[in-house]
Amino acid sequence: MAILVLGGAGYIGSHTVDRLIANGYDVAVVDNLVTGHKAAINPKARFYEGDVRDKKFLNDVFDKEDIEGVIHFAAFSVVPESMKKPLKYFDNNTGGMISLLEVMNAHNVKKIVFSSTAATYGEPKQIPIKETDPQVPTNPYGESKLAMEKIMHWSDVAYGIKFVALRYFNVAGAKPDGSIGEDHHPETHLVPIILQVAAGERDELTIFGDDYDTPDGTNVRDYVHVMDLADAHILALKYLQAGHDSDAFNLGSSTGFSNKQMLDAARDVTGKPIPAKMGPRRAGDPSTLIAASDKARKVLGWKPQFDDVHEIIKTAWNWKEKHPKGYDDQKGNK
Ligand code: NAD
Ligand code: UDP
Repeated sequence: MAILVLGGAGYIGSHTVDRLIANGYDVAVVDNLVTGHKAAINPKARFYEGDVRDKKFLNDVFDKEDIEGVIHFAAFSVVPESMKKPLKYFDNNTGGMISLLEVMNAHNVKKIVFSSTAATYGEPKQIPIKETDPQVPTNPYGESKLAMEKIMHWSDVAYGIKFVALRYFNVAGAKPDGSIGEDHHPETHLVPIILQVAAGERDELTIFGDDYDTPDGTNVRDYVHVMDLADAHILALKYLQAGHDSDAFNLGSSTGFSNKQMLDAARDVTGKPIPAKMGPRRAGDPSTLIAASDKARKVLGWKPQFDDVHEIIKTAWNWKEKHPKGYDDQKGNK
C-alpha cells in the first residue's frame, strides 16, 4: 500500500518523500508545483500534478492508488503575505483540507499526518511552548493552519479519520549530500536569505526589529533540521498505524537562537562577512518561539540527529554551494 504525500515537491515534503523511500515505503506525490519543484521529488515516487482543492483530480488519484495514509504539506506558508492576502491562505490551506478530508473519507482512508506550525500558538504566554498551551494565532497563516487542525478534529469525531498534527518550529537545512534543499521564490526564511547574502546574491540582510523583549533585542526562534523533521513524519505514521488516537506534537530543539546569533553562526560556517542592518519589525512576528518537544521524543520516540544550528546551517550552505540557482539549474524542471 502507498503513502500519499501532498506537497511532496516542496521543501519539507521532498525531504520526507526521500526519507520514506529510504525506509522502504511505496510513495505517491500530489503537487501543483505552485511553489514546489518536480526535480525535488525522488524519482522512485509516482507523481501526480494537480491541485488538492480539485476534488475530481484528487478522487482519480485515490482511485488509482491503494492509499494507506496521507501526509499533508500542501499549503501556503509565508506569514507577511498572509497578512496582506488572508483569503488566499484560507482558500488554499483551509479549503484544501476540506476537499482532502472529503476525498479521504469517500475512499475510507483514515490516517493523516499534517504539517502544522508554531504559528498556531501566536504570542506565547510561557516559554517553552507546550502542546496544551492556548492557540491564538497572530496572523492569517497561523489561523488557517489552526482551522485545519480543528477541521481534522471534527472529522475524527464524525468519520474516525485519525490525525497527527506536527507543529513545526523553524525548519532549516538540507539533505547532507546536497542533492535536495530549500528553494523558494521569493525566499522569505531567515537561513536561506542569510546564505543568499553570503553567496553574493543579495547585498545585505535586514534584521526585522531589535527592540523585542529578548536578550539582544532580536526575535528568538527554535530551529529544527529538515531531515529530523522528515523522520518525525515516519514516526507519526507508525503511531497511527499502531492504532493510537489523534494527537498533536511540537517539533523543535527546545533551544532558542536570536536572529543576531543565527547571523553570527552563518558567518562562522561560511567564512563570509555577510553584511547586515537593522530594520523595522515585520508584521505578525511573535517575539520568542521555543518548543517544548519532549512529548514527541517520549511518545513518538523522535531522536533528532542535528542539535546544533552550525550543523544545520552547514547542510543548507552545502546545498547552496552545489546548486547556486536552486532547482533552476536542473534542466526541464521548474
Ligand atoms: P513549500 O512551499 O516548499 O511546499 C509546499 C508544497 O505544496 C509545494 O510543493 C507547493 O507546490 C505545494 N502546494 C501548495 N498548495 C497546493 C495545492 N493547493 N495543491 C497541490 N499542491 C500544493 O513549503 P515548505 O516550507 O516545504 O512547508 C511545507 C509545510 O510545512 C507547509 O504546510 C507549511 O505550512 C508547514 N511549515 C513550514 C515551516 C517552515 O519553516 N518551512 C514551518 C512550519 C510549518
Ligand atoms: N527575519 C529577518 N530578516 C529576514 C527574514 C527573516 O530578520 O530577511 C527574521 C524574522 O523576522 C523572524 C526570523 O527571522 O524573527 C525567522 O523568520 P522566518 O521567516 O525564517 O520564519 P518564521 O519564524 O516567520 O516562521
